[in-house]
Amino acid sequence: MIIESVELLKVSLPFKETFVSSVSTETTKEFFVVKVVADGAVGYGESGTTNNAFYVEETNYSLSYQVENFLIPLLFQERIDSPLDFAQRVVPIRRNYMAKALLESAVWDLYAKLKGSSLWRTIGGVKDEIEVGVSIGLQSTVDLLLEKVSSAVEQGYRRVKLKIEPGKDLELLRLIRREFPKVPLMVDANGSYSLSEMGTLRRLDDFDLLMIEQPLGPYDLIGHATLAQEISTPICLDEAVCSSSDLEVALALGAGSVVNLKVARVGGISEALKIEKLCRGNGIDLWCGGLYEAGVGRALNLAVASLEGVTLPGDTSPSSRYFERDIIQTPLEFESPGVIKLGDEMGIGVELDEEYLDYLTLEKRIFVNPAW
Ligand code: MG
Repeated sequence: MIIESVELLKVSLPFKETFVSSVSTETTKEFFVVKVVADGAVGYGESGTTNNAFYVEETNYSLSYQVENFLIPLLFQERIDSPLDFAQRVVPIRRNYMAKALLESAVWDLYAKLKGSSLWRTIGGVKDEIEVGVSIGLQSTVDLLLEKVSSAVEQGYRRVKLKIEPGKDLELLRLIRREFPKVPLMVDANGSYSLSEMGTLRRLDDFDLLMIEQPLGPYDLIGHATLAQEISTPICLDEAVCSSSDLEVALALGAGSVVNLKVARVGGISEALKIEKLCRGNGIDLWCGGLYEAGVGRALNLAVASLEGVTLPGDTSPSSRYFERDIIQTPLEFESPGVIKLGDEMGIGVELDEEYLDYLTLEKRIFVNPAW
């Protein structure tokens, strides 16, 4: 296919509630939606970026610069027979994974639509029922946190993930475990601990946690390998794995036994597929995380969660967990408690709510392929 045009929308979408982690507080979501057009079909993509660099180094501003000046010209450069062509074509651009993922995942959606197939089947997915866990941010009071956990359990979420940080960890977990001794529970520190807090980190073993996600700094694979020798709670890597080669280093060091895969963080589906294969081949548990995505990114994550190597419930909650109104026509919902069902609609399987999207749009740019 020859890509005819690209429409880039910057959107501001209000969250239903404020989300707090050890690194950020989010009340609205500013991000990009992209529409990539070829042969009478439109592929959709959604950026993982925000206006700050608290999760990865990229922001909406850096993404916009890369997309406009480098990635769209490469997309237009010559025909694309498979999304893998585009993923290969952008390799010379260093990192900028979220910028690459925005266009690459839209090309995958377009490719699946032109083949007349769902995206999840196109990428080799094997499960049409996706088990869903919930991620609960830091709360202002313990009572509020207990209330949120209780509500998540009632709704049927398959596991509960709590954000922790130094000083908001052991006591909080003790109270949660007292109320919910059997709930499948994990914690995510977003890199807020150091090895000097080994005493606290060791005591996490007391709470029968499924895993601790990214306890140490985002690039500290050696530290995670050291910690893995000291605690029995499995270590899950999130920020530390931005590519399949990062994962190869992590495996060589023994830095973790679980990976939280975010398609946007690793540059798109092509790289996500490599990571899934590596995990499958090395007995590493894998699940699909999220970046508070709206409907397009959420549908993409669900497609990736259908892969065989995805062994644990992810953070792919229904739209209503995050938004009063999503940017897609039919919000993603539970089919049964804790389970989202994938259908046979083409591509990512969702249609944009154009009217609402128009209302949310801060800026719109259209790029037309000069060669078309
Ligand atoms: Mg995380």
